[in-house]
Amino acid sequence: MAKVSVGLRGWRFDEDEVFTEDGEWAPLDEMPDDARNRLLRLGLLMDQPCDACYLEYGEAEKKRANPAAIVYGEPGDEVLLCDDHEPDFLYWFREEGGSELAGEEQFRDEFHEWFVADNRAPEGYGPDEHVEEAPSELPNLPTPEEAQRRLEQAVDFEEKRYDLRAAESEGEDDELDVADLDLDTEYPSGE
Ligand SMILES: [Zn+2]
Repeated sequence: MAKVSVGLRGWRFDEDEVFTEDGEWAPLDEMPDDARNRLLRLGLLMDQPCDACYLEYGEAEKKRANPAAIVYGEPGDEVLLCDDHEPDFLYWFREEGGSELAGEEQFRDEFHEWFVADNRAPEGYGPDEHVEEAPSELPNLPTPEEAQRRLEQAVDFEEKRYDLRAAESEGEDDELDVADLDLDTEYPSGE
């Protein structure tokens, strides 16, 4: 089963889970949850800046940040990187304990803190197992523009599906169950 990247390098998909034989997107509701979640997330991540560049330049100079080319981590807690900063991330991940945090909530924050504290990969440290997998080299794969367009459609589709679910469950239980909410944020008291 061929593994492919879509839009950004890093996350890899089983080709026949996300594409049909004609190179069309497989129907979203037939995709495994993990593949669908990451695919939908990618639609929001393309065109975002590299995290490390952003940390270096700050909001005021964020135009100098390179666009992200690579994504690592879990959807919603992912790290975006450009080619220049990928070695720093890989060094943190492999040599500085980052891999132990894979899948953890603090994954991205820990990398950011490490980077902001002026830690970098040693000179010459590089991605050594780079697999080039430009989408254009694969048969029938959509261009990045086409992929973006389809991902936007997919996001629309997903939103409608949620709306539908919300409509279906309406009236069943009007009370919001506070226990189900993830409230780990501290709020100031009202005084
Ligand atoms: Zn960068």
